[in-house]
Amino acid sequence: MRPRVVIIGGGFGGVETFHRLHRLMHKRRGIDVTLIDQKNYFLFTPMLHELATGSIGRNHVTQPLREMIDCCHERFVRATAERIDLKRRVVVTDAGNYPYDYCVIAVGSRASDFGVPGVMEHALPLKTVNDCAAVRNHLVACFEAAARARSKTEREQRVHFVIVGGGATGVELAGQMGDLFRKEMRALYTAIPSDEVRITIVESGERVLQRHSEFVGTSAMRKLKELGVSIIVNTRVVKVEKNRVHLKNGDHIDACTIIWTSGVQSNADALLPHEDLDERGRVRVNEYLRMVDDEHVFALGDCAVIADTGMGVVPQTAQAAVAEAKGVAKNVRRLVRKKELVPYRHRVRGELVPIGNWFGIAELGPIRFTGRVAWLMRRGVFLLTMYSWPDRFRIALDWFLNTFSFRDTSEL
Ligand SMILES: Cc1cc2nc3c(=O)[nH]c(=O)nc-3n(C[C@H](O)[C@H](O)[C@H](O)COP(=O)(O)OP(=O)(O)OC[C@H]3O[C@@H](n4cnc5c(N)ncnc54)[C@H](O)[C@@H]3O)c2cc1C
Repeated sequence: MRPRVVIIGGGFGGVETFHRLHRLMHKRRGIDVTLIDQKNYFLFTPMLHELATGSIGRNHVTQPLREMIDCCHERFVRATAERIDLKRRVVVTDAGNYPYDYCVIAVGSRASDFGVPGVMEHALPLKTVNDCAAVRNHLVACFEAAARARSKTEREQRVHFVIVGGGATGVELAGQMGDLFRKEMRALYTAIPSDEVRITIVESGERVLQRHSEFVGTSAMRKLKELGVSIIVNTRVVKVEKNRVHLKNGDHIDACTIIWTSGVQSNADALLPHEDLDERGRVRVNEYLRMVDDEHVFALGDCAVIADTGMGVVPQTAQAAVAEAKGVAKNVRRLVRKKELVPYRHRVRGELVPIGNWFGIAELGPIRFTGRVAWLMRRGVFLLTMYSWPDRFRIALDWFLNTFSFRDTSEL
């Protein structure tokens, strides 16, 4: 019987693993691969902040998984994995059981409140298409309410937006919001003085983009300040209430919008026993990206904790998930061919961070620069990493048109 590989998760890591193994399965008929996901589409998360702020539409960030997995559409199963029975080697889902010889866990992560009270009730996350719709609708509702406000105090509270977390998601979202407010909202809501509209980032570290280099972090801070974004550093949020954020130093910030981008919890925590996971629910893997205590299970992407000699732990990014998927697929192939496994080595290809429209920060090895070219490069890279040519054309066209027209400020 051909070895059966079950991949759980059709995100960056899962889809790349499927594509890499597909060649082997299809051409040589040496392996059976099944891809399981709880939704029927792939989500291009790096553009969620653009969807939330109206630069692009929903169909630009989603793509049906059956379309993406080449000719083997029937290899996709829409189901939620509930647990992995390591002894019987079976993935238990809400739509039946899937036995495997090798299982690849690529279930990503979800927003986590890290025990801060009130986050789930009063703050908005940004991880899914529905989150984007909620953020966009909320922004519009705040501007509408501010336009009707009777006092300056009420208006100021309505259009104060707090983003908790100064990582890439928080910073990129703040940049897009800054642009949206300065351009479209200023023109459409003339009753609201633009100096009353505020965005504040609260970051627990000493600067934003802590995972990036000093150059990237300080350049981002400078640009955000130019866009009118206030940044509070070295401050933890200890509690969130309706329209209020409490800080560790005893202060509080009043704002109608609180967006939580401060950290994630792995989705693997529902699938495996706790002893196989770290405190954030990530699967512990060895240098071959195999589970420490089970030779038949691999894990990668946001749901795995992967040691890296230079950086401590490999960062949770789409770029890393795709690179790890290549490593996992290579090792699964080697197992099937009874060859020795090769260790995974993480390499950083470079950083491209956009802040609003037409400004980017690039760090590509020793080459570092900021400005329009960096921004265009980041857009170019995203277009290339998209999985279909029609999507690339659609998005490129939208970006082009947006430079001459308004973003979409309608509710979703
Ligand atoms: C707003 C935002 C912006 C970002 N920007 C960037 C960026 O610019 N650059 C970058 O490199 N990274 C970025 N990231 C991070 C990047 O999105 C993640 O690191 C990447 O998606 C991780 O890939 P993954 O395959 O591990 O998980 P995902 O891509 O999240 O895929 C996980 C998949 O598993 C499925 N799944 C989960 N649980 C189950 C289950 N129980 N059963 C079945 N299926 C399940 C999910 O539906 C999903 O399809 C961003 C993230 C966000 C939220």
